Amino acid sequence: MDKKTIRFKIKRQDGPDASPYWEEFEIPWAPKHNVVSSLMEIRRNPVNIQGERVRPVVWDSNCMEEVCGACTMLINGFPRQACSTLVDSLPQPIVLEPLTKFPVVRDLQVDREKMFQALLQVKAWVDIDGSWDIHEGGPRISQKDWQKTYEFARCMTCGCCMEVCPQFHPGSAFIGPAPLGQVHKTVHNPTGKLQAEERLHAIMGDGGITDCGNAQNCIQACPKDIPLTDAIADLGRKTTIQWLKDIFLT
Ligand code: SF4
Repeated sequence: MDKKTIRFKIKRQDGPDASPYWEEFEIPWAPKHNVVSSLMEIRRNPVNIQGERVRPVVWDSNCMEEVCGACTMLINGFPRQACSTLVDSLPQPIVLEPLTKFPVVRDLQVDREKMFQALLQVKAWVDIDGSWDIHEGGPRISQKDWQKTYEFARCMTCGCCMEVCPQFHPGSAFIGPAPLGQVHKTVHNPTGKLQAEERLHAIMGDGGITDCGNAQNCIQACPKDIPLTDAIADLGRKTTIQWLKDIFLT
């Protein structure tokens, strides 16, 4: 009887400027394989279906529990995490490709620097959060606000929302949905609110909130069910109010 196997079709690229090409691999079936464990199996014996020994496939991964977002890639055409995608749930051949909105470093590894730069641009962190408890008297976070901001704190900068956003691409200045979600989180934090004006100004110019085309793909793609469209709607209202304040109060 034929042994059960798992077949992969992988889009490969030898370097940032090299041309992509496809290569297929087959590994023996084993229970509970996810995409990362399958890639490890291929790496152990990098022989393609033609029987040629080839360069091992390169990919990123780290936490292996869908928290860091590093192993995000296109799996059968959809952006998702390779660590939490079980191969038995997928039709074969399982097609693996790098995300298309970020430059390819090698094979399935991409450079998501553009997203991290956007987080810097919007100051997507809260200065001195927590130290109020030491000094007493600072704004405390209510349970309601905590719940609201916690939803957005689950973002793992995986880039799925950026991948499916038609407005975010290598030629656009749009910062994309994930950084906007983080602006929403920080302006709702009692301490972060103190710099709300600065953060809102950071998304009011070119590449900011008005570049969102309201396609709403981001909310469908987010593996953490982060309500990105609520954030974008809220930031739309807040930036309009800020714009009026800038005109009439300065
Ligand atoms: Fe990934 Fe969701 Fe964060 Fe976008 S908002 S980067 S899809 S976790």
